[in-house]
Amino acid sequence: MVARREAAAAAHPDRRLDLGTTKIMVDGVAENQTAAMLTPYRDETGHDTCNHGLSFIDPERLREYVIALDAAGQQVHMHALGDRAVREALDALQSAREVNGDPVGRHHLAHLQIVAEADVARFADLDAVANLQALWATHEDQLDELTLPFLQDGQEARQYPFGDFARAGVRLAAGSDWPVSSADPIAAIHIAVNRAYPESTQPPLGGAHQRLDLETALAAYTSGSAYVNRRDHDTGSIREGYLANLVVLDPNPFAVAPEDLYRTRVTSTWIEGEPVHTASLEPRTAHHTSHPKES
Ligand SMILES: [Zn+2]
Repeated sequence: MVARREAAAAAHPDRRLDLGTTKIMVDGVAENQTAAMLTPYRDETGHDTCNHGLSFIDPERLREYVIALDAAGQQVHMHALGDRAVREALDALQSAREVNGDPVGRHHLAHLQIVAEADVARFADLDAVANLQALWATHEDQLDELTLPFLQDGQEARQYPFGDFARAGVRLAAGSDWPVSSADPIAAIHIAVNRAYPESTQPPLGGAHQRLDLETALAAYTSGSAYVNRRDHDTGSIREGYLANLVVLDPNPFAVAPEDLYRTRVTSTWIEGEPVHTASLEPRTAHHTSHPKES
């Protein structure tokens, strides 16, 4: 255990660059039916196909790799969109824990488009972080035309189940997946809280219970991401002794209605107490792309 901790510490000697993470693509993406699913994709007439998507790595090999990376003190970052990929990733983390003991790497699963209800609590049990790309958690053209029609009935309710994670006590981190989609965290936080685009008439994706409250969404993008980046000892919170890595927001997002969160602007950005960016204050509009994933 001591050797693993030392390896983890030695992996990031520089304060802004961390080489202690290995990313594993567990599956593909739902839009082209390469996300690994527990149930078959359907064809355009609604009939089951024999395609369950792709596990890019055989699950047994995945276990071996994750056990070895965990033993070496590496953080494992797993791209997992489909519910089978999520399960295979969690199974690998469970095996690593059985072999190596409690994890030190702050392992995380990213994207999490479809997560079986039975697997939600396993994130908390395994101390696996759910790494959310909240900009995607809304009805939009790619989801409504390329994805949902080809999934089984009931799968709309399992899309990006952020509310389920929060209620199960799962650690949340959040990021943009830039350059696949916008790096703007305000736009993503708006969707995390509303599950819909600004001025959208669509119902909240997956139901209103999958919304996050603003405090939880902001924490995922700040202290949660600092935790997963192993920098929660000096970033991610406003606290005495911490680096002043800050943004100033206007209006105060806690003072506006949830449907107006997108109007919040970053007026200045500070790195270690130094201003590095000051914005001109043009009001935000509701304009958005209907294709949040641009790759
Ligand atoms: Zn990915």
